[in-house]
This record gives sequence, structure tokens and C-alpha cells, in this order.
Amino acid sequence: MLCQACGSRRASVYQPHSGRALCRECFVEDVRSRVSAEIKKWGMIEPGDRVLLALSGGKDSYLLLESLALLHDPSRLMGLTIVEGIPGYNREEDLRKLREAARGYGVELVAVSVKDFTGLSVHEMVESARRRGVSLSACTFCGVARRRIMSDIAKELGADKLATAHNLDDEVQTAIMNIIRGDLVGLRRLHPRSRSSGIRRIKPMRKVYEWESATYAMIRGFPFQSAECMYIGEHPTLRARLRSELYAVERRRPGSLLKFLELLDRLLEAGEEEVGKCSRCGSPTSPGRAMCKLCELLEGVGVSLPPYLSRSPLISLRGLRGWGEGDAP
Ligand SMILES: [Zn+2]
Ligand SMILES: [Zn+2]
Repeated sequence: MLCQACGSRRASVYQPHSGRALCRECFVEDVRSRVSAEIKKWGMIEPGDRVLLALSGGKDSYLLLESLALLHDPSRLMGLTIVEGIPGYNREEDLRKLREAARGYGVELVAVSVKDFTGLSVHEMVESARRRGVSLSACTFCGVARRRIMSDIAKELGADKLATAHNLDDEVQTAIMNIIRGDLVGLRRLHPRSRSSGIRRIKPMRKVYEWESATYAMIRGFPFQSAECMYIGEHPTLRARLRSELYAVERRRPGSLLKFLELLDRLLEAGEEEVGKCSRCGSPTSPGRAMCKLCELLEGVGVSLPPYLSRSPLISLRGLRGWGEGDAP
């Protein structure tokens, strides 16, 4: 069977939401053009913008790296990878591969550890929480710490935008979780024009299905990290259940996830969210909160003076090349 886009090469990827069978080249092109269309649609990146890419080393982060390096001046891109400090997960080898891949596109990669930033690694936070009888999952500590490191490093580096590799499945799961919890602030934060976290966060792959990102990574031969986090079994079960429910819906009605997110974008188009300020570190918080989530979590595990209150998280990042054109902050 021939590709239904170019009509000349052999089709090898069936795309249920478009009903087309594509060759590898046209599939890769289709994914890249959806990323590019989403960036244009919401004005995610302006020429000259300094964009910090949050890269975990997983399949999605390689697609983010490659598609942005093709669309934007690579010297205005910088990669950030966060070393969580989870045994067996942050392997040196994966970090080295990611750094090499980034260099191959002309993008510098910086690594920041959760322990340097907060005083404890994710593993140590979980251990301390257990000793103190605090019943919070590893994913809560990890997620809150990572989000904060990303936005603080982006600010420190003078980035205009912070890009993350969330795919369509991630976005729809998060949206539905917010709806189920009745969290309108969280739901609004998902809108591509949201400015709630201080720095503008962008998700260029939000219209790319997870299976497409995995297929793209395979076709392109990316050396992505395959080790699973040891806490995966404790992953919030609501997200895991939603994930399989949504797969079932998508199988019966291909394109459902895309339509859902497009509708949500239109519904949330209007409406600015208000933000509060953490009394301890000054970071943006949800309205009505006295302390931000990270300060609160750390206090619960015995860290009342985390390193980020007293020193720049960039202390370990000296010698950066900067953003090109010699105008790094
Ligand atoms: Zn083709
Ligand atoms: Zn705080």
C-alpha cells in the first residue's frame, strides 16, 4: 500500500485520527508540522526568543529537542535536565547521550540536581516523609520540585519561554483530573496563553499523541532513556486509570483526544487567572495559599531553610556559553 500523503513511498504507519496510512517520511513531516502549527497558533515563540527546553531524556524530550532545533535558531535554545536523585533512574549514561544529542543540534544542556536546589534528593524526601508519617507520594515531591526548578532556572538564565515536552495524552489526562477535582485554577493553567507561573511556559507537542511521539522516536532512532522510575508503581492511580480509559475512548472514536483539547482551548480562551505569592520564597502560588507547594512540602519533611532561599540555583552552572550573540544575562 502506498502512502496516502505522497502517493509514492510505501505506507508503514497508520494514523487512526486522520484515517490515513503514511510512509515514515510523511509521518515525521506530519508530526513536525503539527508542532509548528501549534507554536504559530498561540504565538508560543517569537524570533529571537531565548527558549529553555526541559528535557528528561525520555522519548518526548527528544522530539521536543529536534522539532524546536529545526524551527528556531539553536543558539537561542538551551536544554535543562533535572537530576531527581532516584536510585537506578538518573543514569550517567542517559545524561551523556542526551547531552551529545543536544550538542548535535547545537544546543547546550545544563543539569541541575533536586538535592542542590532543595537540600534533599527526591529519594531522601520520600524517606523522610515515611519516617515522619507524612503520606505523600514520591510523584508529588518530584513533580513540585521539578516544576519549581524549571521556572527558577528559566528566570535565572533570562529565558523568555520555558518549553516542556508534554504530549496530547498528558494534557487531556491533566485536564480531566482538574475537572474531576473541581480545580478551575489548575484547568485554566493548561491554556496555551496562561501566564500564571511568571515565566511563559509552552508545550509545543500538546497536539501530538503519545503513540506518535513513541513512533517518531523509533523512526528517528533516538537513544532515549528506557529505565523506569522505581516509584512508577506508586504513580497516582487516577492518572493511570484515566490513561487506560482514554485509550479505550480513542480506540472507539479516533481523534477524540484532539477534539477534546481543541474544545477546551476555545472554552478557556477568555479569563485571566489570579495568582497569590508565597510568604516564604515569594514564588507564585494558587490564590488563597500562604505558602507555595514546594516550601510547604519541604517543611513537612524537615527542611525549613532550603538552599533556594539563600543562593542562586545557578551556582553550579558557571561557564555556560550563554544564548549566542554574547548577550546572556
Ligand atoms: Zn509519504
Ligand atoms: Zn515558597
